[in-house]
Amino acid sequence: MDILVIGAGGREHAICWSLAKSPKAGTIYCAPGNAGIGELAELVPIQVNEFDKLAAFAEEKRIGLVVVGPDDPLADGIVDVFEAKKIPVFGPRKNAAHIEGSKTFMKDLLKKYNIPTAAYEKFDNYEQALAYLQSRPVPIVIKADGLAAGKGVTVAFTRDEAETALKSIMIDKVFGESGSQVVIEEFLEGQEMSILSFVDGETVRPMAAAQDHKQVYDGDKGPNTGGMGTYSPLPHIADSIIEEAIETIIKPTAKAMVAEGRPFRGVLFAGLMIAPDGKPKTIEFNARFGDPETQVVLPRLKSDLLDIFLAAVNGTLDQAEIEWSDEAAVCVVLASGGYPASYPKGLPIRGLDEAGAAGALVFHAGTARGKGGELVTNGGRVLGVVGLGKTIAEARDKAYEAAGSIAFEGRHQRTDIAAKALV
Ligand code: ATP
Repeated sequence: MDILVIGAGGREHAICWSLAKSPKAGTIYCAPGNAGIGELAELVPIQVNEFDKLAAFAEEKRIGLVVVGPDDPLADGIVDVFEAKKIPVFGPRKNAAHIEGSKTFMKDLLKKYNIPTAAYEKFDNYEQALAYLQSRPVPIVIKADGLAAGKGVTVAFTRDEAETALKSIMIDKVFGESGSQVVIEEFLEGQEMSILSFVDGETVRPMAAAQDHKQVYDGDKGPNTGGMGTYSPLPHIADSIIEEAIETIIKPTAKAMVAEGRPFRGVLFAGLMIAPDGKPKTIEFNARFGDPETQVVLPRLKSDLLDIFLAAVNGTLDQAEIEWSDEAAVCVVLASGGYPASYPKGLPIRGLDEAGAAGALVFHAGTARGKGGELVTNGGRVLGVVGLGKTIAEARDKAYEAAGSIAFEGRHQRTDIAAKALV
């Protein structure tokens, strides 16, 4: 069966890599992909927002399954376009992807169905939002309603910070229409954890739990990024807490979506905060695989990813074989100098073969081929180097050793990925 994967990041590289292991996989196409994906898939020069061109390509090539990686096309209804043409597609429809596309929708849903989340109020009027903000203690969290490439959230520790964030969202409109509504919510203390699940309607098949490192510098300092590294499993978090999150948050949310007439099919990503008393609460839902969570979760999947996607599309996800290895995985992201602010592109990358020889998986994010065919940087997050091992410590050593052999000018990485899991 020929497959079309849509996206261009490390997440899509990990998806293509995992799909390529399936004996049922024929040609894998990726639109638009990147240099690393090009080594195992045929790259298609169509952008993720060109729905009609993508659908025409899928029809022409008689694609057996389309897999959509990124959030923006899902929120804009790419799945509905494929479904209208009867092309099998793994991902949520527009009305279900709304759980990520609108934070006010997500928060109202959780409130209506009594699913644990931070207390909040929503506003579309600046003066009312400001008056509410001034009546609340700090720290407090301000969120633009719509998608903002992970930058629409401010955890404010002072009143000044909170008021500046509110003004920039609602008055200066730095996120455009995404900021026409805001959510102001209670600050939650604790440990963050992500649980990704394959979901079809009320059927929830959880994947391995993972933890991300969002800030650019060691010790969680500096501005937020798309993610500087991840690890899985989480040995310092009790299985009972993960189980509680699945039973009290993820399953009820899938059920609530069905009850609302928005059945979810795809990967439901729950971002959770575990309070010091061990109770999990929802921070966010995403309607797709996380990046770079996918890079540590899929290498631990022992079963056939293509079979799982097809089971979800055919309504048999409850029967699909989904097994995980006991191995640990750690992903260290190598970023361009300057990221998450501006950074140069087109710089030569060296040392990938050495990293592979050190036993690591190297997933490409922002890479391309230069004029002479050489590998060059082409984005903020350039590569994700994944080590696997019996323990987090072993996986981490492997990832860092391999990362150390990769060089490009200005290259930046965090040195404390998964350090929390060692203590
Ligand atoms: P992304 O798409 O990058 O995951 P997002 O824009 O959807 O981010 P959230 O996940 O809601 O935003 O928030 C981003 C980060 O802000 C969280 O990972 C968490 O660290 C912090 N955060 C969000 N809400 C809260 C809260 N109520 N209390 C404490 N921290 C929070």
